Amino acid sequence: MSGRRLVVVGASLAGLRAVEAARKSGFDGSVVLIGAEPHLPYDRPPLSKAFLDGADLPAFRTEEVLRDELGVRLALGAPATALDTAARVVRAGEREFGYDALVIATGAAARTLPGTGGLTGVHTLRTRDDALAVRSALDDGARTVVVGAGFIGSEVASAARKRGLDVTIVEALPTPLVRAVGAAMGRACAALHARNGTTLRCGTGVAAVEGDGRVERVRLTDGTVLPADLVVAGIGAVPATGWLAGAGLPLDDGVVCDETLFTGVPGVYAAGDVARWHNPAFGRPMRLEHWTSAAEQGAVAARNALDPANAKPYSTVPYFWSDWYDSRIQFVGVPAAEEVRVVDGDPGGHRFVALYREGDRLAGALTLNGQPQIMKYRALIMRGASWADGLEFADRRRAALKTA
Ligand SMILES: Cc1cc2nc3c(=O)[nH]c(=O)nc-3n(C[C@H](O)[C@H](O)[C@H](O)COP(=O)(O)OP(=O)(O)OC[C@H]3O[C@@H](n4cnc5c(N)ncnc54)[C@H](O)[C@@H]3O)c2cc1C
Repeated sequence: MSGRRLVVVGASLAGLRAVEAARKSGFDGSVVLIGAEPHLPYDRPPLSKAFLDGADLPAFRTEEVLRDELGVRLALGAPATALDTAARVVRAGEREFGYDALVIATGAAARTLPGTGGLTGVHTLRTRDDALAVRSALDDGARTVVVGAGFIGSEVASAARKRGLDVTIVEALPTPLVRAVGAAMGRACAALHARNGTTLRCGTGVAAVEGDGRVERVRLTDGTVLPADLVVAGIGAVPATGWLAGAGLPLDDGVVCDETLFTGVPGVYAAGDVARWHNPAFGRPMRLEHWTSAAEQGAVAARNALDPANAKPYSTVPYFWSDWYDSRIQFVGVPAAEEVRVVDGDPGGHRFVALYREGDRLAGALTLNGQPQIMKYRALIMRGASWADGLEFADRRRAALKTA
């Protein structure tokens, strides 16, 4: 044993990948994984998908594997409460964990609807416990109102519709998903709701969520009253940095890191939804809330924290997917584009591909049910392909599909 100590705070995807990568790299010192939730690390995407339909949610790894094979000491069920970077100590209430290398992987917490604290039947969807409560309400046939037409809210609506329940999505903006995929494609995705029997009300806010102890109705700013047994707020998430107040780390909508996920404070790296790092692939800072980057960053942060002299940058083309009804939406790249062009299929139909241009560069691609293609566009973007290259590639794909 080297006697060195790795502490990872946040026992979810990025945290788990951090401890796995540490061992895989040959690190033989002590490893502590601190998690606020009582559960072993589990996967979040199924929470708004298969789990709501009744599927199980196994932990990523059993306690035995974590303890005996990976040599991880688990400290679950209590959050880290403070970080002392001078003494190199993480505090969790009365407990203290000294570190030589620290990976912060505390993710993000769901935003809640103001003024709904005392009402049962009002939920966010971030944790296994949240998802259990939502699933049980759906089991009871709840009239469902989803606040926020983002990805998680839309997936909840899909799950409710699969069961034939009445569901309305309320979205304050005139068009959903503008920040995630841009206005035109936001409209195209939103069309899936109407086609599947979900009512989508855009451009109106929630004035009040009312009920006597339990939610009974949602009053909208346009005066509409929606009867509801279940209200799910899908209004975004905020990086979980509260416990770092006063630690002297750079915080700005996340833990600010350089391209190697280093915070600038000796020994301290960050990964996953909590990290705002400089992404060399786009030459700009980003904070992503995507599965793939959280997993990859966890591994990179641990390796870099344990061997800072050989730290490697983490460069990526962002990727996420979302499953609505019987369709899969996938996006690669960045959506803040000067032009979005549909290059295949029909945005009003079951399958299409749209490309995003920034300057003369291919910056992003969105597919609806385009699973075989999306990673090809991701590779093109990673290579720095021009807009013309992207269009030419799309032409070739279309031609190949026609002759197939
Ligand atoms: C319902 C849902 C569906 C999703 N679906 C998709 C999808 O389809 N596609 C996709 O690309 N991405 C999806 N995502 C996003 C993806 O799951 C996240 O990007 C990923 O979970 C981030 O991993 P993370 O480890 O950085 O953070 P998290 O998964 O948020 O984990 C952070 C962990 O840290 C813990 N923690 C917080 N504060 C403290 C503290 N002070 N001390 C100790 N522990 C702490 C939290 O309790 C949590 O367990 C989804 C997310 C959710 C919630």
